[in-house]
Amino acid sequence: MPKPKTKAKRRSAESQASARGQILKTVDAARSERRFAPDSGAMSVLPIVASSAGALLLGAGVFGQFLRAIPHPYALHMLGVGVLLLLVGLAMGARSRPAIRVGDAGVGVERGDEQIERLGWNEIDAIRLASGVLSFSGSAKLVTIDLAENPGAAALALAEARRRLPVRVKDIDENVNAKGDVGELVVLEPFQAAGLRCKATDRLLSMERDARVCGLCGEVYHKDSVPDHCLSCDADLTS
Ligand SMILES: [Zn+2]
Repeated sequence: MPKPKTKAKRRSAESQASARGQILKTVDAARSERRFAPDSGAMSVLPIVASSAGALLLGAGVFGQFLRAIPHPYALHMLGVGVLLLLVGLAMGARSRPAIRVGDAGVGVERGDEQIERLGWNEIDAIRLASGVLSFSGSAKLVTIDLAENPGAAALALAEARRRLPVRVKDIDENVNAKGDVGELVVLEPFQAAGLRCKATDRLLSMERDARVCGLCGEVYHKDSVPDHCLSCDADLTS
């Protein structure tokens, strides 16, 4: 069966060539990411249930111990368990982590209202997977994703890092099970290049139309100074 083999080979070579040519993008290229809220599933309800049960028991305990003419025999137990449940609920609630973003703009953590701390793929110096936490660091920033709390975000971030920055993840052999969590699709604003500097020449990019962006890591170049290989992720930028 030599014929179909050759065909398949040629087709894959063609698709690879066209994929390479498409890595370099203009600023108007569509960008998107996925948002992973950790507060989905049973784990997010548990702190509320514990706090509510604790508050109920506490109320009943106070009534049984202090407001009845004769204290209820179990009132002190109810008070103790109530306080304990309330504390456990509060502690679990405080541990809940913010939502994670993974996509064309890198990895990001939502911090409060509308604030997203982002780490672009081109800024990432090191990626580690240890003690159940996947961490990305670079540019004096750190984004951590807990595998137990946010398996979907960790799985996508690791897969994207393997595709975009293979050199940085070559030491990570493990895979992360997404457990069916695929997050929600978020369409991003177009890339803002004005005011940034060309990675190759340090030339200030004053016109959006002069900018070219590496589609893998988000590094930006002046259209006249695009290198053959991206200086940040080593992707082949020739068409
Ligand atoms: Zn790149």
